[in-house]
Amino acid sequence: MKEFNQYINGKFVKSTSVEMTEVLNPCTEEVLALIPGGSVADADKAMEAAQTAQYAWKSLTAIERARYLHKMAAVIRENRFFLAETLAKEQAKVIGLAQVEIDVTADYFDYNAGWARRIEGEIIQSDRKKEHIFLHKAPIGVAVGICPWNFPFFVMARKVAPSLVTGNTCVIKPSCIAPNTIMEFAKLIENIGLAAGVLNFVCGSGTVVGNALTRSPKAGIISLTGSVFAGQKIMEAAAQNITKVSLELGGKAPAIVCADANMELAVNAVVSSRIIFSGQVCNCAERVYVEDSIFDEFMEKVAKKMTEVKVEDAFSTNNPDMSSMVSKDQLEKVAEMVEFAKKEGAEVIVGGGRSINFDKGYFYQPTLLTNIKQDMQIMQEEVFGPVLPVMKFSTLDEAISLANDSEFGLTSSIFSENFNKVMYACDQLEFGETYINREHFEAIQGFHAGWKKSGLGGADGKHGMEEYLQTKVIYAQYR
Ligand code: NAD
Repeated sequence: MKEFNQYINGKFVKSTSVEMTEVLNPCTEEVLALIPGGSVADADKAMEAAQTAQYAWKSLTAIERARYLHKMAAVIRENRFFLAETLAKEQAKVIGLAQVEIDVTADYFDYNAGWARRIEGEIIQSDRKKEHIFLHKAPIGVAVGICPWNFPFFVMARKVAPSLVTGNTCVIKPSCIAPNTIMEFAKLIENIGLAAGVLNFVCGSGTVVGNALTRSPKAGIISLTGSVFAGQKIMEAAAQNITKVSLELGGKAPAIVCADANMELAVNAVVSSRIIFSGQVCNCAERVYVEDSIFDEFMEKVAKKMTEVKVEDAFSTNNPDMSSMVSKDQLEKVAEMVEFAKKEGAEVIVGGGRSINFDKGYFYQPTLLTNIKQDMQIMQEEVFGPVLPVMKFSTLDEAISLANDSEFGLTSSIFSENFNKVMYACDQLEFGETYINREHFEAIQGFHAGWKKSGLGGADGKHGMEEYLQTKVIYAQYR
């Protein structure tokens, strides 16, 4: 069993709290590692170190900073199997998907390093003679990155890479459920030459360490990926010092399948969207609206596909589609939501309960539900499991209005071969992302941003990088 320490000011140090938290392998329930329970003092030390390091870090040229990001990418690629195994073990992500996450994370560091020579300001015409108005983009200061358990390694990079390239220093708090890959990465980059304090990793709970980091007057920007509840708590904490927040929160993504859709494509995309990582992905299709004339055919095909989903240990060589849920809590939450849906009148077509094929672990069956009504909990609240509720619609306007009837606004999709219909729907859908005739999965050069309760600000691409910059205007009068 491994034991990790905090990484603060360029050193692995013991937490001032003696409490340790167990990290489990969800497939086997074995204890993989102990991480520090964390303390307010740990958080304060990390913030102090990051603030002290920031002047020298921002004084480097952007291209010098970018070299460290390229080094991080190279370290990840050199250790890709080790990191993928660590990730697969701590969160039951099937090894193929874990490998994708590791590879995309390396790409993410390289991609953000590429912005170094492209961070640009503006020159604005003045109303005065002999004056220029220069608009500069400056680093904010210390970036606090709070990570979830579902794509922990990639999301860590989503916070570290843009903050460092733009001249901020960074304090990362991994989730207590899946911190191992991040903490192994901290060890792997210990000798790449990054100055002490530029990048710190502090383990601990949201309520103690997370709260201390986000209440700190030293925080310049707080970036959270997590639940709406954590987002609300962080906004409250950030309000103390009017700290900027960037929030990537939950979702309840609708998929609209029109009668003129390519049926095979729609079925495959919807099922893979719901099955990937056991349905524990914020942006994947969570509720499906199908035009009434093709409803029966669609359900028959989806039911067949859901029945064929291979659920196995994350390390199975049988190329499984999904594995265990991440934790007992997560399993119980999904099971309760399905039971409640049944009480509200939903009919189970496939699955509908805990998988009985495993002695250990938190496996839930791929589940297909029909007889669904829009006001059911399963259509309104994030389920975060391999559960697919499907409902009929008659007109595209009805489908759009059902899709928009949600407190979330992260992603959506539409399946149709009719260009006019698709473009009309894209104009009407109130979501940060819309996918046309494909599964829900974003690109690193796009912009991942939730509307409504799904978040504030966004990540990825040029606009995600710019979240970590503040605008400063200089009025330059000459004689
Ligand atoms: P969570 O909110 O329980 O935890 C996320 C992180 O926030 C953890 O590190 C946790 O310790 C921390 N935290 C919790 N309370 C805090 C507080 N009061 N102050 C500071 N930090 C606090 O979420 P989770 O269970 O790890 O992840 C699942 C959730 O994340 C789902 O709702 C999912 O939709 C969402 N998510 C969203 C995106 C996105 O891009 N929009 C991506 C992945 C996950």
